[in-house]
Amino acid sequence: MKFATKTIHAGLGPDPATGAIMTPIYQTSTYVQEGIGQHKGYTYSRSGNPTRNALEQNIAALENGKFGACFGSGMAAIDAVLKMLKPGDEVIATNDLYGGSYRLFTSIFANFGIVFHFVDMSDIQCIAQTINTNTKLIWVETPTNPMLNIIDLHAVADIAQSAGALLAVDNTFATPYLQNPLDLGADIVMHSATKYLGGHSDVMMGVLVCQDPQIAQKIYHIQNSSGAIAGPMDSFLVLRGIKTLHVRMQRHCENGEKIARWLSLHPKVEHVYWPGLETHLNHDIAKKQMRGFGGMISFSLKENRLKDAQKLVSNTKLFALAESLGGVESLIGHPASMTHASIPQVDREKLGIVDSLIRLSVGIEDSVDLIVDMDKAMNSIA
Ligand SMILES: *Cc1c(COP(=O)(O)O)cnc(C)c1O
Repeated sequence: MKFATKTIHAGLGPDPATGAIMTPIYQTSTYVQEGIGQHKGYTYSRSGNPTRNALEQNIAALENGKFGACFGSGMAAIDAVLKMLKPGDEVIATNDLYGGSYRLFTSIFANFGIVFHFVDMSDIQCIAQTINTNTKLIWVETPTNPMLNIIDLHAVADIAQSAGALLAVDNTFATPYLQNPLDLGADIVMHSATKYLGGHSDVMMGVLVCQDPQIAQKIYHIQNSSGAIAGPMDSFLVLRGIKTLHVRMQRHCENGEKIARWLSLHPKVEHVYWPGLETHLNHDIAKKQMRGFGGMISFSLKENRLKDAQKLVSNTKLFALAESLGGVESLIGHPASMTHASIPQVDREKLGIVDSLIRLSVGIEDSVDLIVDMDKAMNSIA
């Protein structure tokens, strides 16, 4: 089945009870058993719920995996992966990691004796230098947030495999429309479905997908034991969102390209970070492992002034000033004072997150209107 067909049909069929074409919201905690142990596959909704299970199968198919598991948020999904580890195990993670992942690793799991190394994975050598016999997990984000760094998943998978470590990829920015990490050798794919998969800024959810039945068993055991499951109403919303994922992503990519190229010609712009630009670091790897380049863009201003950047993000009208990404509406953010404010300025600047850096989540509005909006905001600064 091709991707656009899978988004609408994979794992889904008419409701067995009524024939409803849309998967119903099974808003129930428990299921009546005909006799002890005699049931229709469902006993209690923490362990399994038909709406959630339909979504889990659908997403697994989109990622070319066999098993899917849905959680109450992206962070709950990441939390479940980390719970596969034991004290003394080491993790190597991308250095410009999603802030929430960094916080979970360093302020929660470090307390349980898990050791974290944060390295620049755009240079693959940095992983090889850090890996050792205790390394049990490599955690990769690509493209990264907010610098849109590209990491060679095939190369990292080779390193992980030879070290006997699991490779987990946070595929939130790319979505399965643009990139399938399992096909490149990853063991686990993670999504914040809050972003592009849901796509309408109306739901929080996390997803894990894998191929290996043993890994799946561990994930389901943790999902059922810790209980951070996705609810049936939220599962319904993400199922509905995914049905248009391919159509939305196509437009996100088109709009992303138009705005990235417009910005790169703008006299007030110093640098544009978008993986589709020929000048972008590791653009050749992006071309190899992605089918398009998405709608996430960051850019810095020639005059690196905090005041100007803050003014710019306050002066757009269509680009709404907000955290998050991946919805149909365009968003604008200022990483240094929003998502990355807790990182000390020197460390932030080492990652490229200068005071004038601005991040866009380009939505699916008409690109002409978006560019007019950005142009007006640009004219409002010195
Ligand atoms: C949002 C996000 C997360 C966390 O997901 P939530 O649904 O907010 O818990 C993890 N990784 C990336 C890349 C994200 O953008």
